[in-house]
Amino acid sequence: MKITSATFVQGVVADADVLHDDVPQVALVGRSNVGKSSLINALVGSKSLAKVGKKPGKTTEINFFLINKKQYLVDLPGYGFAEASLAMREELKKLIIWYLTASGARPQTVALILDVKAGLTRFDEDMLLILKDQKHPFIIIVNKIDKLSQKEVAEQVRVIQAKADGAEIFCASAAEREGIDAIRERLFA
Ligand code: GDP
Repeated sequence: MKITSATFVQGVVADADVLHDDVPQVALVGRSNVGKSSLINALVGSKSLAKVGKKPGKTTEINFFLINKKQYLVDLPGYGFAEASLAMREELKKLIIWYLTASGARPQTVALILDVKAGLTRFDEDMLLILKDQKHPFIIIVNKIDKLSQKEVAEQVRVIQAKADGAEIFCASAAEREGIDAIRERLFA
């Protein structure tokens, strides 16, 4: 499938019409710096739809993008940026948890993005618990696989799979455009 249009719709910090307007949503969540913005740009074939390498922890809104005029890509703020103030981290965490538990949004799929070297951190495990608890369909995207050998990637995926109870896992390198087509099909077909 091809993405022919991707446009920014709205940044959300509280209840808003886009949350309930019946356009299907696909949400992306991950720790700050896992490459979420880079993945979004690779998925939609844009250099700058999501801002890469922005000061981590700076994005404080839930950004809605309209894909092919028929689906929302929901970019949740990056969480757990160590250098952000505690207040800021709490604020972002609250916003993510609100979207997933209290906003009324029922995303078709939530993609939890990990950095292959970091694997499943405590933050990610918390996120998995919320996704399961809320019965949100989800996949895991293991990004930055260009940073490890194939063997090391396979080992990391095995560990993540075991910790995540056999969740559906996709490997990717946003930097080298690897694994992107399969993820695009899975999320937007
Ligand atoms: P975000 O904070 O999760 O949105 O992450 P960004 O997309 O801003 O990326 C954070 C940093 O990781 C940037 O320096 C990117 O260039 C880099 N990066 C993103 N994806 C990859 C990847 O697949 N491989 C490598 N080696 N670096 C990546």
